[in-house]
Order: sequence, then C-alpha cells, then structure tokens
Amino acid sequence: QHQGLVEKLDKVVRQYPDFPQKGILFRDVHPIMSDPAIRKELQDYYATQYQAQDIDVVVGLDSRGYYFGVPLADRLNVPFVPIRKGGKLPGATYKIEYAKEYGKDSLEIQIEAIKPGQRVVVLDDLLATGGTIGGACQLLEKVGAVIVACEFVIELVDLDGKKQIPQGVKYNSLLKY
Ligand code: AMP
Repeated sequence: QHQGLVEKLDKVVRQYPDFPQKGILFRDVHPIMSDPAIRKELQDYYATQYQAQDIDVVVGLDSRGYYFGVPLADRLNVPFVPIRKGGKLPGATYKIEYAKEYGKDSLEIQIEAIKPGQRVVVLDDLLATGGTIGGACQLLEKVGAVIVACEFVIELVDLDGKKQIPQGVKYNSLLKY
C-alpha cells in the first residue's frame, strides 16, 4: 500500500559514485528533505507505522536519522533522543566504538535520556554494513531500552547489515538497492 511512496522516493534519491571516498556509491536522501510533498508522505507513513506501537521515545542516528526521527517524535508526541558521534554530548554518557562502511567511529548517548523499559524506535537514513545500527542498539541496551524496531529509508542489501541488528528486533527499509 506504500508502493507509491517507494516509487517516489526511488525517483528523488540521488547516487554519487566515489563519495565520500573512492569505491563508495553514496545514496543521498537530501532531495527528500527538499521536497515538501514527498517529505510529508514519508512522515505520514512513519506515523502510521508507529502510532499504535506504544512508542515512548524516538531515537535518531547522527545525523541524517534526525531528519526523519524528529518529525516522527512530533507526530507521536514523545521525546526525541539523538545518538551522536562520540565527543558531542555533554554530561553522563555511554560510548561505544564501531566499524562502518567507510572507516571507524564512535557513538554516544546521554544516559538519562531514556529510562529502563522505555519502548523505542530507531531511525536512520541508510543501512549499509550495519556497524552503526549495531552500535546504536548496544547503547540502547545499556540504557535498558526496549527496541521495538529499526527503520531505514534505504538498505544496501548486499552488505547484509541486518545481521548487526539484535535477534528479535524488527527492522524495515523502504528502498532496497
Ligand atoms: P553502516 O554503519 O555501514 O551501516 O553505515 C550506515 C551509516 O553510514 C548511515 O548513518 C549512513 O548515513 C552512512 N552511509 C553508509 N554508507 C552509505 C552510502 N553508500 N550512502 C549514504 N550514506 C551511507
């Protein structure tokens, strides 16, 4: 029933060879943000998916996950919590290191942002090797969150990043390349 949305997204998402480094085919979601009609349709889709799932907190991954996470948190009228690259968040945090498609990085979450047992949905623009979502899920487990689902606009299927999502956690992607 969301096939129309998938087709529209597929038309606007642009690909850039060799960005940010040679050998990477970069899939750019920014045209979605530039198009109010498609942007709204995507936000409506996410709201429909999650409005009956008792979500307590929407989590977005640094940084393009915020584009999709904040509007969903608005629609659900729940807190939005960012998972940021290491060194950006003040106060008490949990931090982990992880491997990604191009390089190594760290992720961090503010410990008090989520209470144990809270039900969260996690959004990011793209699932590649899964290093990022795997690290994010580890942080969410540390704070005691219940991960209801992981949502991606795009999934690079051949990289099999879904393996990094903890067993039993649902995940969904709209565009599969
Ligand atoms: P990974 O940890 O390998 O799953 O990489 C996912 C993260 O890196 C996401 O936050 C994406 O924004 C970014 N990313 C990885 N590969 C690409 C790609 N080919 N095009 C656009 N973004 C990418």
